[in-house]
Amino acid sequence: MREILVLSGKGGTGKTSITAAFAHVSGDKIICDLDVDTPDLHLLLQPTHEREVQFYAGNEARINQAGCIGCGLCEEMCRYNAIHHDGLDVFTVDPIRCEGCKVCVTFCPEEIISFPEKHCGRWYVSTTRFGTMVHAQLFPGEENSGRLVALLKQEAKKLAKEKQIDCILSDGVPGVGCPVISSLSGADFVVIVTEPTPSGRHDLERVAGLCRHFRTRAGIIINKFDLNDEQSSHIEKYCRDNGYPLLAKLPHDALVTEAMVKGRAVTECGESQIGLDIRGAWEKIEKLTR
Ligand code: SF4
Ligand code: SF4
Repeated sequence: MREILVLSGKGGTGKTSITAAFAHVSGDKIICDLDVDTPDLHLLLQPTHEREVQFYAGNEARINQAGCIGCGLCEEMCRYNAIHHDGLDVFTVDPIRCEGCKVCVTFCPEEIISFPEKHCGRWYVSTTRFGTMVHAQLFPGEENSGRLVALLKQEAKKLAKEKQIDCILSDGVPGVGCPVISSLSGADFVVIVTEPTPSGRHDLERVAGLCRHFRTRAGIIINKFDLNDEQSSHIEKYCRDNGYPLLAKLPHDALVTEAMVKGRAVTECGESQIGLDIRGAWEKIEKLTR
């Protein structure tokens, strides 16, 4: 089974538009949106949810007001400032601030602070016009995105096995933090989408460094290459010097935005140079991963 992951050092490089176009031009696959904090692939693929699962991770403190004697020890001991009381000595936990350290639970003299699992988000198995999709939404401010990413990857693999599909196409997480590392685990090939700017190059080098560290093969797409020929040449040289295949140089094209507004992949919007280039990039990926 091949797991192809599309990454970029930061958001706004066109990663999701390119993933949606790959989803359109490729054969059987399970599509996976690993960006659980700010998912947006669903805007282009318009999935119909077939299964919704609640995601719980970590724990949070909850005070049972009925048994509270108002001693204030919990507020005093919480180093995250997550417990407050009002003028009537009603103590409450701020769930956004609670780090789940369990100190208040342990020291409450009345033992009336419960410690349930935290409801952090939801994940879905959906159908789309390009195949089955696994995706999620973490609630605002919630952590544990790395765990949710790992869970989605696991589910995508399970579905691929059940349906005897040999390809998982994943839209990765922007940046180089914990969820990106989680998304890289087990990936066979990474498509790094970059743009011809100094910061684009910098981000590219950081993601490429991560791929090297995890010994994952990678290829590079320069998006909007024609906005800065000099920077594009630098990136091409970087690819040559470091042995990364240059999968495509995509031109700046207003069609991408038009497609986005319509909720379509750019390759669905008639013949275009960018559509041909994306198809060419996918053919190269197929050859590299077969
Ligand atoms: S430590 Fe327990 S009893 Fe004391 S204020 Fe906090 S919740 Fe109430
Ligand atoms: S579990 Fe820890 S962080 Fe959360 S309210 Fe209790 S002491 Fe504060």
